Amino acid sequence: MEIKKKDIRALTKEQLRDFFVKEGDKAFRGNQVYEWLWNKGAHTFEDMTNISKDTRNMLEDNFVINHIQVDQMQRSSDGTVKNAVRLHDGLVVESVLIPTKTRTTACVSSQVGCSLDCRFCATARLKRMRNLNPDEIFDQVVAIDNESRLYFDRPLSNIVFMGMGEPLMNYNNVLKAIDKITSPEGLGMSPKRITVSTSGVPKMIKKMADEEVNFKLAVSLHSAIDEVRTSIMPFNVTFPLKDLREALEYWYAKTKNRITYEYVVWDGINDTKKDVDALIEFCKFAPSKVNLIEYNPIDDGEFQQADNKALQMYIDMLEANNITVTVRRSRGKDIDAACGQLANKT
Ligand code: SAH
Repeated sequence: MEIKKKDIRALTKEQLRDFFVKEGDKAFRGNQVYEWLWNKGAHTFEDMTNISKDTRNMLEDNFVINHIQVDQMQRSSDGTVKNAVRLHDGLVVESVLIPTKTRTTACVSSQVGCSLDCRFCATARLKRMRNLNPDEIFDQVVAIDNESRLYFDRPLSNIVFMGMGEPLMNYNNVLKAIDKITSPEGLGMSPKRITVSTSGVPKMIKKMADEEVNFKLAVSLHSAIDEVRTSIMPFNVTFPLKDLREALEYWYAKTKNRITYEYVVWDGINDTKKDVDALIEFCKFAPSKVNLIEYNPIDDGEFQQADNKALQMYIDMLEANNITVTVRRSRGKDIDAACGQLANKT
């Protein structure tokens, strides 16, 4: 009978140590293997050169390393790199490297597809196929870190969970991945350089606050008026703005961390003074930053980016209310790597 091999990276360090003790070896062997898996990014047991051949064979008999594979890498004329990442079961997600003068940011996926239904987002059309495991999220970061070193001569500096999927709908695995990314036994990155972006799942925002996480939070708001938000993000019926706002107040009370709102201004949807007033009212309870994102068209023109006049109105009114505003230009549009364009087209 064939034994189904276990994913070795699903084991905690303690479990790995216990495994070796049960095998009659030293617990310390578990530390060594753990280091190979998470710190040195070993793809195979063969790579683990300070482990004896017999032990490596024994590991081979019991476990697999479900490493991701970068199937295709595309480079945009603006330097952005998009990876099509094949998972062990053949499914594909995408991650993006975004270089600027001073930093390189990895934009990683947390799910295959997405269970939310934002009408302006290409990933929403894929439906959710499954959650990514912590190691699959971790591997995307390592792949981009390697590309950053190779192409830009510097390590990765920031990570945003703005690829495919809703990170707070895969909360446990996202947190485990961040744990590996930030731990000295993993990549040792500061949590302050990591941003988790959510469409706004109130219960999970409160849970994150209770767990006193140290990474940053961004909320894809797009409208602070329920009817408007529901028309473009239908799940807003389940998680209305009142609940979202209450969860964010709770988050701020616990963490004292500034909240970033992502916001696209669309023609005829959220481009009036009333929309800006509602946004100001929504975010005034805590220090806030509004990131005005350029719209990346994904379809036949149902959604159109509002004109500069509307954008300027947002900027002027927000600034007058002491809310920081940034305007984010799209990157990687020519290779479908920009926000909301990740849909496994390649
Ligand atoms: N589910 C998470 C993370 C993925 S989306 C979230 O909603 O935050 C990352 C960001 O891209 C979100 O702010 C989302 O609203 C935005 N986005 C989605 N489609 C877009 C598009 N076509 N153009 C510009 N931004 C888009």
